[in-house]
Amino acid sequence: MPADPKPVYDFSDLKRWSEVTADLEPPAKLSVFGDPVAHSLSPQMHNPGLAAAGINAQYVRLHIRSEELADAYRLLPEAGFIGTNVTIPHKTETLAAMAEVTDVARRIGAVNTVVVESDGTLIGHNSDGPGFQRAIREEFSVDLSDLRILILGAGGGAGRAAAVQCAMDRCERLVLVNRTIEKAQALKDELATFFRSDRLEGPVDRLEVVPWDHDALARQMDHVDLIVNGTSLGMKRTDPQLLHPSLIQPHQMIYDMVYAPPRTRLMADAQAEGARAANGLSMLLWQGVISFEFWFNQSAPVEAMRRGLSGALLSK
Ligand code: NAP
Repeated sequence: MPADPKPVYDFSDLKRWSEVTADLEPPAKLSVFGDPVAHSLSPQMHNPGLAAAGINAQYVRLHIRSEELADAYRLLPEAGFIGTNVTIPHKTETLAAMAEVTDVARRIGAVNTVVVESDGTLIGHNSDGPGFQRAIREEFSVDLSDLRILILGAGGGAGRAAAVQCAMDRCERLVLVNRTIEKAQALKDELATFFRSDRLEGPVDRLEVVPWDHDALARQMDHVDLIVNGTSLGMKRTDPQLLHPSLIQPHQMIYDMVYAPPRTRLMADAQAEGARAANGLSMLLWQGVISFEFWFNQSAPVEAMRRGLSGALLSK
């Protein structure tokens, strides 16, 4: 009878992987690296997807500390891994451990998906930006390229991934807002190349950094279709309000990357103003779907993964 996987494996397990996981069926060939990692819902999303696709592999959590990261990557090919996801705090440090990194991952400055090629080479990808892109399409039936977008928290990891994707998709307009404004300014400098064109400019700049204050944000609202929360605010009831509700207009779409609680204060405020709002569950799903596509070069069983993820959140 096959054994159940441990809720979390660690670096010492990875060093003896074939021995430690000998009783697992299907074999553990995919993982998420993180510190901490016990909270990750990725196994509950990926394992139903792998089963639905008939792939003989399972996905587990690996608690890897920063000082173990480089060695953990060296061990992956010999342990028979297809790949791994990477979460906090290793996404940036992983760049240096890869033989190759995709253009998207390099521009985002982070790797969240590693593919182990058949010769053992490690390729670093990022599915957070593309996951955000597909989430917006699913939630609002519109592409980033058609939107004027304001990102709150553009200096954090998730906000930066979204901003880079918006720029690479040549969105109509991008407004970067971050508590530490210097980070948004540095990101603007990096992204400026995507917004240079010969076409006639409108009444406002296509790429702007705006300080996080009420009046500055108010001046933007007639020129923005999609507002994204990429900050870590919104998970707790006691978190400060992100935007005064009077700033939100009925034509706007609000995407809150937070998914627990499922209806954040920002979403509730937006809906009360007549705007459409969605939480970050779709981004979590689609980044997983895109990771699956990187590993297997085939379409992922999206609905099986969605059911797995929703079930995991309901049982939390
Ligand atoms: P991070 O790198 O630590 O960035 C945190 C961001 O929040 C920074 O922009 C930070 O601004 C800002 N922030 C923190 N406290 C703030 C405050 N009191 N007032 C204003 N801004 C504040 O975190 P992350 O990894 O990007 O994650 C951010 C959020 O996105 C989290 O809620 C996470 O769960 C969510 N997320 C969702 C998905 C998904 O798939 N749905 C994926 C990734 C992340 P400073 O730069 O000034 O510090």
